Amino acid sequence: MKVGITTTIPVEAVFAAGKIPVDLNNIFITAPSPQALVEEAEEEGYPRNLCAWIKGLYTVAKNDPEISTIIAVTQGDCSNTHALMETLMLAGKEIIPFAYPFDRDYDLLAHQLEKLIKALGTSWEKTREVKKKLDEIRKFLVELDFLTYAEGKVTGFENHLWLVSSSDFNQNPEEFQKELEEFLKEVKKRPREKEKLRIAYIGVPPIIPDLYDYLEERGARVVFNEVQRQFSMPYLEEDLVRQYQLYTYPYGIFARLSDIKKELEMREVDAVIHYAQSFCYRQIEDLIIRREIHLPILTLEGDKPGRMDARTRMRVDAFLDMIR
Ligand code: SF4
Repeated sequence: MKVGITTTIPVEAVFAAGKIPVDLNNIFITAPSPQALVEEAEEEGYPRNLCAWIKGLYTVAKNDPEISTIIAVTQGDCSNTHALMETLMLAGKEIIPFAYPFDRDYDLLAHQLEKLIKALGTSWEKTREVKKKLDEIRKFLVELDFLTYAEGKVTGFENHLWLVSSSDFNQNPEEFQKELEEFLKEVKKRPREKEKLRIAYIGVPPIIPDLYDYLEERGARVVFNEVQRQFSMPYLEEDLVRQYQLYTYPYGIFARLSDIKKELEMREVDAVIHYAQSFCYRQIEDLIIRREIHLPILTLEGDKPGRMDARTRMRVDAFLDMIR
């Protein structure tokens, strides 16, 4: 049985229950026509002035009869999740709520995990066993990230794709691990890429993935994918609850900033692209990011899924010219 997820959750519990997690974001953005999925939600009454991700997630979940259950992160993700879940309940889906405590409290988080494990019909023991297996894959993802920023052998897009896919391990951890190990074997043979401008990408994953190739064409490479890296649980923490306590994304911009600042320095980043989705409340956080990060910052706004528009390309060009 498939369980839809709208963001990273303790996926160990889903696998431990013998179910398959499906990150609806990944299905949406890799669909043959993501824009058609957005329009389908609008035809049902979803507002035009609402984040396209939410509309895409709605249509993906609604249209897949195999996804009968969805885990809803009611705190620590998206302010639109409540209404998304209400409309999915109307479409006959079962909703399991999960909340990341705002203050990062260990006991509250452990309680949430306990509820999730029970709701899925599994146990702590089985969940911890799965964690051990997933951590073996996560070690390879840490290596992939290292090959990106330290050795220049992995492109920014490849880094993005592998890390973002670790929210559900492409629904098949064994296959994911096999493909990842093969990929790492191949990239190690690559010559070291000649030095490019080193860019950090912070913010939610882009709805315009060709941004990465566009940067590469212009002599810049993303060496840090902030949120995608967080999905991969890079700290390899042994304690399951602590792992999701260290995960920065659900705990607000200040939790994220301490990780971002450390990584910007360690990865010797030249400039930052802050991506903000149209109609997303996270756009407000741009003003905090600009005050806290003392590097050149370009804020990009994506709206519809698809290729970058001419205006965004021009802004990227001007930014890269400025920092060269
Ligand atoms: S981009 Fe913002 S509004 Fe859209 S789904 Fe993500 S958090 Fe929600």
